[in-house]
Amino acid sequence: MSHNPIRPWRNIDRRKSRQIMVGSVPVGGDAPISVQTMTNTDSSDVAATVAQIQRAAEAGADIVRVSTPDQAATTALKEIVRESPVPIVADIHFHYKRAIEAAEAGAACLRINPGNIGDEKRVAEVIRAAKDHGCSIRIGVNAGSLEKHLLEKYGEPCPAALVESGMDHIRILQDHDFHEFKISVKASDVFMAAAAYQQLADATDAPIHLGITEAGGLTSGTIKSAIGMGNLLWMGIGDTLRVSLSADPVEEVKVGFEILKSLGLRHRGVNIISCPSCARQGFDVIKTVEALEQRLEHIKTPMSLSIIGCVVNGPGEALMTDVGFTGGGAGSGMVYLAGKQSHKMSNDQMVDHIVEAVEKRAEEIESESAAQAAE
Ligand code: SF4
Repeated sequence: MSHNPIRPWRNIDRRKSRQIMVGSVPVGGDAPISVQTMTNTDSSDVAATVAQIQRAAEAGADIVRVSTPDQAATTALKEIVRESPVPIVADIHFHYKRAIEAAEAGAACLRINPGNIGDEKRVAEVIRAAKDHGCSIRIGVNAGSLEKHLLEKYGEPCPAALVESGMDHIRILQDHDFHEFKISVKASDVFMAAAAYQQLADATDAPIHLGITEAGGLTSGTIKSAIGMGNLLWMGIGDTLRVSLSADPVEEVKVGFEILKSLGLRHRGVNIISCPSCARQGFDVIKTVEALEQRLEHIKTPMSLSIIGCVVNGPGEALMTDVGFTGGGAGSGMVYLAGKQSHKMSNDQMVDHIVEAVEKRAEEIESESAAQAAE
């Protein structure tokens, strides 16, 4: 999907995985790598949860997870599913009845570890409910909650223990002839998570859900996630991901997309290329980029914009972007359109002008692709 014959150093060969469906969203195979987040509202509060899901979906979330710790939550889930614009994964931890209720409520996927459900009869009941209601399952192994026997065997959480746990859960689903599953082996330690995911990728063809769990706050968690998941994605590992931040779910979605955009694995919205600014800048680059990021949030069309402080790098960057602005002298700069120098624009009007130019270019790109699709 990211094969680039002209720039082969950008190629990423994705691991070949089976494809499953999470509601209407394909995960695995050659499907786009989907971005997930999780709500942090009280799940029994339908209005608040739906509002948060809608904001996450608007930011680009393909799938949203909702935790269903009690019956009030699984009851509310029915309405949440009905009003959600994206498929909902129900997060179940201990009680098998919540899993059955969530499947009945219309969850597209259950996040549950079959090995933790309890006796064989309960496992069979949950899998039957998933089959009857068209739910997939995500096995979610976490270094913080590994089974006791594995901790005893390995002494401490480690990549091999995470993978062994995951493969044990997989076996249970396969023994029940259930194959619509994906799997994660998360750890907050980047080294452990990366090693576990690499081993997992060799051990199964199931679609892989990436995550560095409990990554931290917005800045530190973003960096950790970008290093951990970025490396795995670069190796071709990962079919869906969630960035776990102690921050608004919308931020998780934005970071997830930025990671995928940096690797050319997904394209959405305006990719702003901007310089850090220095004494040479012909306008206030930082304030301008902040303003443009906000004003261009509504653009979903994949496109690029370069905002460069001066002619040192401005013309070169503008050659490769849809719209560009390079600072010059005397309170104005140069606007570039489709990689070509176009016209001068005064600094005090450039934000409005660039927003208009980007909106126009987005419309052109959309109509070009609509025309291509119609051919
Ligand atoms: S492009 Fe110009 S203004 Fe921006 S950092 Fe480089 S030299 Fe400074």
